[in-house]
This record gives sequence, structure tokens and C-alpha cells, in this order.
Amino acid sequence: MTDLKTNIIGLDREQLKSLLIEFNLIKPSEKFRIKQIWHWLYFHGVTDIDHMTSLSIRFREDLKKFFTLQRPKLNKEQHSSDGTIKWLIKLADGNLVETVYIPEENRGTLCVSSQVGCTLNCKFCHTGTQRLVKNLSTEEIVSQLMIARDQLSDWPTNENRKISNIVFMGMGEPLYNYDSVKKSVQIFSDQEGIKLSTKRITLSTSGIVPQILEWGKEVDTVLAISLHATNDELRNEIVPINKKYPLDELIQACRDYPRSRNSRRITFEYVMLKGVNDSLADAKALVSLISGIPAKINLIPFNPWPDSPYECSSNNQIKKFGDFINDAGYSSPVRKTRGQDIMAACGQLKSDSVKIRKSISRLQK
Ligand code: SAH
Ligand code: SF4
Repeated sequence: MTDLKTNIIGLDREQLKSLLIEFNLIKPSEKFRIKQIWHWLYFHGVTDIDHMTSLSIRFREDLKKFFTLQRPKLNKEQHSSDGTIKWLIKLADGNLVETVYIPEENRGTLCVSSQVGCTLNCKFCHTGTQRLVKNLSTEEIVSQLMIARDQLSDWPTNENRKISNIVFMGMGEPLYNYDSVKKSVQIFSDQEGIKLSTKRITLSTSGIVPQILEWGKEVDTVLAISLHATNDELRNEIVPINKKYPLDELIQACRDYPRSRNSRRITFEYVMLKGVNDSLADAKALVSLISGIPAKINLIPFNPWPDSPYECSSNNQIKKFGDFINDAGYSSPVRKTRGQDIMAACGQLKSDSVKIRKSISRLQK
């Protein structure tokens, strides 16, 4: 019976309203009902319609006939010695996704997945070796945050919340799942629920040029570009989507990216691969490639995984590379590796999926 019910998690306000009207639960004028339900769900994080105590018992009973607030099942929770937590989540269709919480001194970041696996096969990334892929629905993306906040006792939403930032840097290419990711961001940033400013939400992409511009116009989160190489020959090899959207188009998209309050600076991510892209000549080429773009460069020490084909650059080389970029006027923090002992660091996520491949609406358009 539960399967026939609609999950409220992942619906936007308009969808929720239309369904409530369709099921004859409210009249079109009763908009305040949406506000009430929204507040219970996304401000208080209730897991049961019966806990929405400002609604009459009768209304709650009616809601329960058509709706649920069910989260996917938590399959496994792993704790790193550095405080990072990784959750393996089993979706209703049996697929598994990973979500990672990274606590820091002044903030807590949740790294969410947008797909099961990834079709893009970047050579240094474990997720890219996963064969099965599907786009996550808005419900499945938003549920990752709901489960994380349940596990961290991070409800209700307040100033001292544990999860203060969200990054789309888990499994998958978020711009290949544009609509669901966009709707999730709208739910995360809704000021009557989870209330995360879009300044605190980062979308990381391997460079899907047409969608980058669309995203900038429509959504306006912080944008991170997984650059990793400064010439097409190397980028074609390590980030194969470059063959479709080569560097000159990608950099032009960054130049054209609509600059609003939040997206003023683009973050370029650059994974440090020993002897591959880490010479001072590469650093010089990087600076000239992005010249004129308001940017910061995030250097990511390569995180190995079983049978990975690369080694991480030495600390000394990373420092030299970073110093060169700094001297050229760009901030170039080295991303601290977190959760490596539980395979939760950047690029290490991979889960075994059990379902047959599904068609993906916006994939590889
Ligand atoms: N698909 C998106 C977002 C997920 S990956 C993207 O590619 O941007 C998040 C970041 O981790 C990307 O910059 C990605 O290139 C980087 N990454 C992937 N594998 C890595 C590894 N093994 N070590 C370090 N960073 C890695
Ligand atoms: Fe996919 Fe990003 Fe991994 Fe590339 S780095 S395979 S785009 S998840």
C-alpha cells in the first residue's frame, strides 16, 4: 500500500499544492496548508505525518491516505578517524548511493550524489569505473540530506546547524541530471524550510558547456569546474568529456558565466597527479588559460583507490605549484584530504548497484 502513496520529500510547493487539491484535501485558497506541511517537513524534519501536530487529526489521517515521508534505508554508516562520516543509502529501487559529511571548525559540509555511478569515466575517478548508472530523482537527492540530518540530530533548522554547506561532489555529473538537481537546490535554499543560502551550495561539473550557462542563468549556486589539465591532449585523456566540450569552449563558458552575487568567483578544481599535470610549466599554462576570470584554484591531492592508475604529486611539488599560482594572484588552497580511511575522499566513492541500467533523460544530450 505504501508504494502507491506519494512521498512529499522532493515535491516542490506547486506540486504539493496541486496534489492536495487533486486529492480533495484542500481548496485552492488554502495555501497556508502548504506552508504548514513544508515547515514540519523541512524545518522540523518530522519523519511521521502524525508528528505534524498543528494540523487537525482528521487532516493528518487524510494526508496519510495519500502521502508518506519515507526516507530510503540507511545501509551502512562509517566513521573516519578525522570525524568524516560516510553513509551508504539503499534507494527504493535497490540501487546504492553514498553521501559524505565533512565536519570542519566553522562549518559542516555534506557531499551529495546526483547519480548512481557516472558515465564520464574520468581516468582518476573511482565513481567513473562504476558500470551501472541512473539519475537520482529529486526525492533521492533531498533524502540524502534528510537522512544525514536525522543521523546527526541536526533538526530543527537553526543557526548552529551541523550541516551548513552542500556540495554536489559525490557520485555523478550533476549537470547530466539538471532538472532534479535544480529542484533539489530550490528545496535546500527555500527560506521557510532548510534555509541554506545558494552561496553555501556548490555545483561541481566536469564541464558540460551548454548546461553551465543555463545553470548560471537559472540557479546561481557557487560553480566549481573540474579542470585538471591545461591542454586538450591531456584533458581528452583524463577527462574524456573534453572531446565533446574542448577547453576553449569550456573556458569561454566560464568567461560568459553570468556573474551575480554568489557566483562571482569560479572555483577551478585541479587534481594533482604525479608527473602528469603537476609541473611548473603546467602551473604557468593554468594561470594563462584562466587569465581574466575571477577565480580561485582548488588543488586536490589525488586520492588513490584499488588499482588506480596514478600517484599523488609530492607535497613539495604541490606546494611549488600552489606558490606559483598564488604569486600570479590566485588563491590556491590545497584541499585537505578527508575520510580516506573509509574511502570517503574526493573521487573514491563507488557503490555496487543491483539494478539494470535505466534510461536517463538528459544524459549525453
Ligand atoms: N562529477 C562532478 C562532481 C563529482 S567529483 C565533477 O567531476 O566535477 C568531485 C571532484 O573530485 C571533481 O573535481 C573530481 O574531478 C574530483 N576527483 C575525482 N576523482 C578524484 C580522485 N581520485 N582524487 C581526487 N579528486 C578526485
Ligand atoms: Fe564522473 Fe566527476 Fe568522476 Fe568524472 S570526476 S567520472 S565526471 S564523478
